[in-house]
Amino acid sequence: METGRGFINGELTIMKPCPLCQKEVRESENKKQIRCVNKGCTASYLKIDAKKFNEGLLNGFVKFWEVYPRKTSKSNTLKAWIKLSPDTDLFTTIVKSVVAHKFESVQWKNTQYIPYPDSWIRGRCWENEILREEPVQSKPQFNQPPMGYTDKKQKDVQSTPRTKELTKDIIQLTKVMLKVAGKKEKEKILEQIADKQTEIERELARTD
Ligand SMILES: [Zn+2]
Repeated sequence: METGRGFINGELTIMKPCPLCQKEVRESENKKQIRCVNKGCTASYLKIDAKKFNEGLLNGFVKFWEVYPRKTSKSNTLKAWIKLSPDTDLFTTIVKSVVAHKFESVQWKNTQYIPYPDSWIRGRCWENEILREEPVQSKPQFNQPPMGYTDKKQKDVQSTPRTKELTKDIIQLTKVMLKVAGKKEKEKILEQIADKQTEIERELARTD
C-alpha cells in the first residue's frame, strides 16, 4: 500500500505499510503512536512509538527474524524487541552475534538447544561468550564413552581451514544481505549462503 493521510474518527491519521504484513499501519498525529490494524499481523494493535517506527524499528525486527534460526514465539519476540528498541549500532551487534552463534556455537548446532528468540533478546544474549568447542578432557573420567565409540558431538564441531573460510564468507554474505533492499537480490544471496552451507557439510562429511 501507499503512504496516505486522512481523518479517521475525527483524528488526523497517517497511513503507511507495515513492515511485517505489508498492510496498513495508522499513525495518530496527536498520540505519536502507530499501530498495525491488521488482526492477522504479529504487530496487530501493538502500540509503537511513531519516532522509533519511522527510524525502522519494525524493519529491524523483520531482519532479525529472518536470520534467527529458531522461529518460535514471534509475538513475544516482537514485544521484547519493541521494549529493547535497539538503535543502529545495537541492531548491528545483535545480528552479527546471531550469525556468529549460528555458525560457530556448539550449542546452536542442535536446533533444540537454540534459545527461544524472545528469551535470547530479553537475556541480552549477544553479550554472551560463544562456546566454540567442547572442553577437552585431559584426565580419563568414569563417564567416558567406551573405546571405539565415536562421540558425535565432537565430530560436529570439527572444522577445517576450508570450513573456516566458508563460515567467514557466510558471515560476509549475511551482512550484504541485510543491506540490500530488493527481494530478488536477497533470495540470490540466500541461495549463495545455502550453497556454502552445503559445502561445509560436505567438507565435514569428508573428514569423518
Ligand atoms: Zn502488520
